[in-house]
Amino acid sequence: MLHGQKHPADLGYAEITAQLQELASTYDCQLISIGKSVLGLDLWTIRLGTGSRSVYLTGAHHACEWLTATLLVRFCRAYLAANRSDAELSGVRISDLFHRTAVWVTPIVNPDGVSLARDNLRAIPAHLQADLIKWNGGRTDFSTWKANIRGVDLNRQYRAEWHQAYRRGPKAPAPKYYAGRFPESEPESRAVAKFIRTLEPALLVCYHSQGEVIYWDYRREAPAKARRIARELSRLSGYALVAANPQSAGSGGLKDWFIHEFRRPGFTIEVGRGINPLPPAAFDSIWRQNLPLLARLPAFVLT
Ligand SMILES: [Zn+2]
Repeated sequence: MLHGQKHPADLGYAEITAQLQELASTYDCQLISIGKSVLGLDLWTIRLGTGSRSVYLTGAHHACEWLTATLLVRFCRAYLAANRSDAELSGVRISDLFHRTAVWVTPIVNPDGVSLARDNLRAIPAHLQADLIKWNGGRTDFSTWKANIRGVDLNRQYRAEWHQAYRRGPKAPAPKYYAGRFPESEPESRAVAKFIRTLEPALLVCYHSQGEVIYWDYRREAPAKARRIARELSRLSGYALVAANPQSAGSGGLKDWFIHEFRRPGFTIEVGRGINPLPPAAFDSIWRQNLPLLARLPAFVLT
């Protein structure tokens, strides 16, 4: 690759937004904003399919895991194109699923954080910069930042033993693990939770990095079919199954709240292997591992 040339998988909020808008003007799909970030950026969400049984996919809850947004947008494009041309995607005829299911996708839950992790303070309002540097331990390199722009870890914000998540984490804004002052205190997590309460999806997948593992349970509250689906997702991706994340028991995590609240299948998929942020060069193998899984997700809500 030539010096200074960006890797095609290296997409930030502006590029992801442009791609979603292009998809919305090219294909049969719907693009909505489910809310705004702290800094006023739209939380773009796209619907693929016209059916009533729904799947909901989220990416980039954590700032330094922005490669998950590229994965989801690439999937949206492939799914819509396969539907239009009546073609198979990874062996699945998408037009058979398109009118029976709806796949909703929020590629970037944490756009302010993604901007901070990708570009440091360049696009961050001046009045916020001193606090951010303080919360980051005096460093001006934010590349490993996970939280939102207020230093709240958005995947510790949901109503799944939130108090435990708060007790175990920092008690003030930080690059990661601060659960905030109360559940859903942040506009990003509040918007996602509200959207889920309205949509009531039959299945949820939260994309994170890294580890090449799939978490599928929470306090043994996942329904019986979640284990069966998890085994299939593991087979399709080659990722290992873990019942629950021991690091974040009672984590305030989205998939934990979803399982607890709806007793429906919810999964956290950790893509890639290495240190966050994963290099864009990791994208091709992540795509190969996840496309067979993603193409089959809607079929799981029909059985
Ligand atoms: Zn994460």
